[in-house]
Amino acid sequence: MDVTALKKRLAERVDARAPALDRLALAIHSHPELAFEERFAADALVAYLRSEGANAETAAGGLETAFAVEAGNGGPVVAILGEYDALPGVGHGCGHNLMGTAAVGAFLALRDVLNGLKGRVRLIGCPAEERGNGKVHLIEGGLFEGVDAALMYHPGDRDEIDPLMLAMVNLDVELLGKAAHAAAEPHEGVNALDGLMLGWNAMSALRLLVRSDSRIHGIITDGGKAPNIIPDRAAARLMVRSPENTYLADLRRRVLACFEGAALATGCELKTEWSEVCEVVNTNRPLAEAFAENAKALGRTMHPRRPSDTHGSTDMGNVTTLVPGIHPFLSITDRPVPGHSIAFTEAAQTERALETMRLAAKALAMTALDAFADGSLVKRAKEAHNGRQS
Ligand SMILES: [Zn+2]
Repeated sequence: MDVTALKKRLAERVDARAPALDRLALAIHSHPELAFEERFAADALVAYLRSEGANAETAAGGLETAFAVEAGNGGPVVAILGEYDALPGVGHGCGHNLMGTAAVGAFLALRDVLNGLKGRVRLIGCPAEERGNGKVHLIEGGLFEGVDAALMYHPGDRDEIDPLMLAMVNLDVELLGKAAHAAAEPHEGVNALDGLMLGWNAMSALRLLVRSDSRIHGIITDGGKAPNIIPDRAAARLMVRSPENTYLADLRRRVLACFEGAALATGCELKTEWSEVCEVVNTNRPLAEAFAENAKALGRTMHPRRPSDTHGSTDMGNVTTLVPGIHPFLSITDRPVPGHSIAFTEAAQTERALETMRLAAKALAMTALDAFADGSLVKRAKEAHNGRQS
């Protein structure tokens, strides 16, 4: 088998679909949809797949806006993942309009060249990355069963092979007290806002005492109804993050204690609700090396993470806990641009962004091909996965 010739063919098959892939990426960019509501994006990607003869299953894994389709026979199963949800306020400020399309391009190119090779590629359209941990639902829905490796890229402002993506959990806290006239009979009330602020201040004090690579942040979502009524309800939405799954568990306990103490001090009732945990991304070294090599052949040099850089959190972490996986960043800008900003939204529709999306499709497809052509890659990836830390 001439792997070099097959990779050249993969790149040609992506280029042949460039106009359609670009159109899809721009259309999704101009129809930003929030988590679990990505109907336009999922419909557009599935319709395109079907027009190419790939009969994607919709509502895959039990999520309305997820989809999946597989091609090939025998051999290892490589999943190629794409996201397509947007953010409130800034639209595609994370560039997910470029991810679903790249995954579709990679899948179709691989399908075109798989004949005669042993290996299956499974395209998984993944909703709800920005909120709701969509991939956790898809794992529970069985979409990763039998998967030997999972590949995804993310647009960024630097070519980075192993970005630090923190473990994260959401905490909704609610303090319940007793309303009373704030001037006539405040002694009859139990002040839920005071309870919340005591907990918040304890949490702020805690921040000095935690590892500097961890994060605790949030907003107050309810501070009472009127200044002349003792608030009977106050609430906040918090996020707790750490680069280690085990340290995150410790932080959870300490943050919770802040609000338990505050509830006790003020006589409020405390209600809490934790989200599922978003786990640390474990970049699989053999897969990352293969991806970096393919990116280099396409003209991009992948860099290791810088010690000071973090990139938030992603449910791709949970996928990389389960199976060997990668989540490299490919730059869509010539200068530093923060994610989740209007500037990044603008960057996600430029020619540079589209060109990088096509390059990502090629590099993802070429890395999957490596897994099919080189029997040792999947074996090495699994060994690295089983021996990983965190
Ligand atoms: Zn993102």
